[in-house]
Amino acid sequence: MSESLQIAALLEMHRDRPILVTGHRDPDGDCIGSVMAMTRSLRNMGYPAIPVNRDPIPYRYRFLDPDDMMRSPEDVILERFHLAIVLDSSNLDRLGFDLHRTFPHLKSVINVDHHVSNSRFGDVNVVEHKRSAVCEVLCSLLHKLDAPIDPMTANALYTGISTDTGSFQYEATTADTLRTGADLISLGADINLVRENVWENEPFNRIRVLSRVLDNLKVTENGRMAWIKISHAELEHFELDNGDLETFVDYPRTIQGVQVALFFKEIQNGFVKVSIRSKSEVDSNKLAQLFGGGGHKRAAGCKMTGSLDEVEQNVTERFIRELESNGS
Ligand code: 5GP
Ligand code: MN
Repeated sequence: MSESLQIAALLEMHRDRPILVTGHRDPDGDCIGSVMAMTRSLRNMGYPAIPVNRDPIPYRYRFLDPDDMMRSPEDVILERFHLAIVLDSSNLDRLGFDLHRTFPHLKSVINVDHHVSNSRFGDVNVVEHKRSAVCEVLCSLLHKLDAPIDPMTANALYTGISTDTGSFQYEATTADTLRTGADLISLGADINLVRENVWENEPFNRIRVLSRVLDNLKVTENGRMAWIKISHAELEHFELDNGDLETFVDYPRTIQGVQVALFFKEIQNGFVKVSIRSKSEVDSNKLAQLFGGGGHKRAAGCKMTGSLDEVEQNVTERFIRELESNGS
């Protein structure tokens, strides 16, 4: 039986119970877009779906949840979910909460993703790693399920695809990606609304921090790797969280000759998240895996313990060695 038929059968079996729809912590546009699109589409078909994320929706994606449906796992701890749909997550650790322990009544998990490293943790797995975004995977899945895509659902799907492709620029963008974008506009996606919320919605604070962070940008002697960092104290001082920093790493990447760009974010004292971006010569996913992380060829990440300076030193030294051994 095809995956879409298996999913249709699972949905039918669980028609009377709320369905948990979730994605990875520190959600990005593809995660929020896919979770909100799946939730809306299920609700429009009469299934009681509840969107859940460990972390709040970053400000630039809040317009995708006008009815304030998103819940934290703690908010819905009493719901006896039997079915969960997990989006944009290569493994269950990415959720930031223990899915089966938090919701012990779960009987089935549907895994919809586009990460090459996906561990296929679901009872049904729709993992298409050549797709630019999980929202692109979802467009074809919803089509197969005969699920309605209303304009707000189209906005959510369009947001996921355009953010994961850097506005249809990165190499994962295929002819199908562009066709899917065109279809979503036909279905009512409003690119002005998406642009004004996602790309033209920066709080003044964030631009001030960006200028500070860029002031301390570092580049290796050969100019192949560049990086920036932000301390926990700065995050607190400027009242920012990880979601506010999503596009900062794009700045070191734009530098001429740079193949690898890094951003070290001290999310808590002694706990650093590293974002990795690369151009055509380097595989970001392989670099992230050196420190137990993962992701895609051009965008990956890992989480490390240690002080900001320690992590910066360890990671940059290791990556410089790795790039030298690759001749990059
Ligand atoms: P970002 O730097 O935007 O947080 O993450 C870029 C990509 O790297 C994400 O789409 C995700 O696939 C991956 N990624 C980020 N952090 C981690 C991590 O800690 N573990 C794994 N496996 N992947 C990560
Ligand atoms: Mn994604």
